[in-house]
Amino acid sequence: MPLTNAQYARIEREYGRRRQKNAEARAVRQAEAYAAIPGLKQTEEALSDLEAERVRCRILGNSGEEAELTEQIRQHREHRDLLLKEAGWPADALQDSFDCPLCRDTGYVDGEPCACRKRAVIELLYDQSAIRENLERENFSTFDITLFDNTPPKEPGKLSGRQQMEINREVCLQFVDRFAEEGGNLLFMGQAGTGKTFLSNCVAKALLDRMFSVIYLSASEMFDLLTRQAFGRGGEETEDLPGHLLDCDLLIIDDLGAGLENRFAPSNLFWCLNERLLRRKPVLISTNLSMNDITAEYTDRVASRLIGSFRILPFPSRDLRFIKRQSEVQSRR
Ligand SMILES: [Zn+2]
Repeated sequence: MPLTNAQYARIEREYGRRRQKNAEARAVRQAEAYAAIPGLKQTEEALSDLEAERVRCRILGNSGEEAELTEQIRQHREHRDLLLKEAGWPADALQDSFDCPLCRDTGYVDGEPCACRKRAVIELLYDQSAIRENLERENFSTFDITLFDNTPPKEPGKLSGRQQMEINREVCLQFVDRFAEEGGNLLFMGQAGTGKTFLSNCVAKALLDRMFSVIYLSASEMFDLLTRQAFGRGGEETEDLPGHLLDCDLLIIDDLGAGLENRFAPSNLFWCLNERLLRRKPVLISTNLSMNDITAEYTDRVASRLIGSFRILPFPSRDLRFIKRQSEVQSRR
């Protein structure tokens, strides 16, 4: 399971919290029932003594006495159930209760992760990628290729916007399908409003649903975080963020642009790309810059990493229908 240590620890803490909560609730119910129902406490205590005794007999192989104890246990249970029933309590009032009866809130059934744990992992991955709402709207199932212009371009050999987007979508679907085996890196290049962020969201959701860890940050968020961390002002919300940036399964850096206020951005970007490439950890970057702009803004070290290690997908020029549809969706939020 592709979880970082911090994520793993967080899930284990959550299961511990559930078990404690349910044990406390049971203790409260038990105390109330003992106070309300005369004889119940004595019956329960006798029952646990008998059960302990039966275990001892079983270990010693004393099967005659074990059978006798089993009969006494049956009678005591019957008596207890009757006491509860007569007092109007549910029959399972003194039983342990669990959020998930399948795994009894351990997260595992026969050594395999329980369905509830798989869900918890997905929830956590969604939370940490911080784009849950966007992904509900923007994913492969809501990707509408007909929003892209299919007018044949005037220059021979060129693709229409829709043809280009069909290729891009296909490359992204393959990227997702072969992610575990092949990894790889993608660079989306094109103007604003051409569907780059939409397609990044499609990739993010498809991988999160397959339980890969994805971190999605705008370039400026990432640079801010790295700069704050470098100056020891990370704060709790960025707990070990550089660690996550380097070891999550996919890092998406959205909207790498020009006009940097952050003078550490070029070196931070190079550091981050270089570390992830060395670890063979995939990166997806979207940018409205040309390769010349990237060289100018982020140095040729960054540009050469991008050219050497990324599959570059050009996005068609601004598509007004796509932009219009996007703004309609935004305004309905
Ligand atoms: Zn479970």
